[in-house]
Amino acid sequence: MTTLDTGRVIVVGAGLAGLYAALKLAPLPVLLISPEPLGSGASSAWAQGGVAAAMGAEDTPMRHAADTIRAGAGIVDAAVASYVTTVIKAANASGASMNAMLKAQMLSTALGVYFIGFGNVGIDLTKVCANPTTCTSYENTSAAFGGASSLTVSQILAYAASQSNPGGTVWYGQVKATQGLAKDTYDAINNQVAFGA
Ligand SMILES: Cc1cc2nc3c(=O)[nH]c(=O)nc-3n(C[C@H](O)[C@H](O)[C@H](O)COP(=O)(O)OP(=O)(O)OC[C@H]3O[C@@H](n4cnc5c(N)ncnc54)[C@H](O)[C@@H]3O)c2cc1C
Repeated sequence: MTTLDTGRVIVVGAGLAGLYAALKLAPLPVLLISPEPLGSGASSAWAQGGVAAAMGAEDTPMRHAADTIRAGAGIVDAAVASYVTTVIKAANASGASMNAMLKAQMLSTALGVYFIGFGNVGIDLTKVCANPTTCTSYENTSAAFGGASSLTVSQILAYAASQSNPGGTVWYGQVKATQGLAKDTYDAINNQVAFGA
């Protein structure tokens, strides 16, 4: 057995909880202990900054929110949990509808920007995976972002936000094809298959 003598605060675990604790302890020096390299072997990494949804017929956003609040043991903002679970559950791109799916994808990207901090990452909008699960074909989504060939993730979010009415009920003039291009861009970012500019 190896012993270690350190004057640093020891944080066991390098998921979101451990990293957040380390951040809050700054400027105190910290020693993070993790059996796996940073970014692997943790629920935080497996979740990939994504957001789960209530999928089962008997499941509801309210149950998902209640589960999240219970698991958070006092650190979850109930209003945020309720908002997120409702928006994600409502995601739908069938028929004429695309607004709800676009809103859910944007929310997921915005949460990633807030928690992971990839807002300054540049994205190539001329080559976006048309199907993020297989990424076998690409599309040019510039038309959904004022013709720009590349933008940072934060600029992408800001541009799409500028295309909606104040309540978010009308987006891109309700032109489904353009909404779809924007949605695919967020989908690629959320699934970590977007290309850097
Ligand atoms: C696919 C998926 C989707 C999710 N979706 C959502 C969602 O929509 N909403 C939501 O609120 N939550 C969601 N979660 C849950 C959320 O990701 C976790 O609650 C959160 O990441 C837990 O963070 P943590 O730091 O407590 O644990 P982890 O991120 O699991 O970190 C634990 C750390 O401890 C280390 N460790 C483990 N055992 C030991 C040991 N014996 N000694 C030393 N170190 C050890 C691990 O290596 C790791 O570094 C999801 C999780 C997954 C996997």
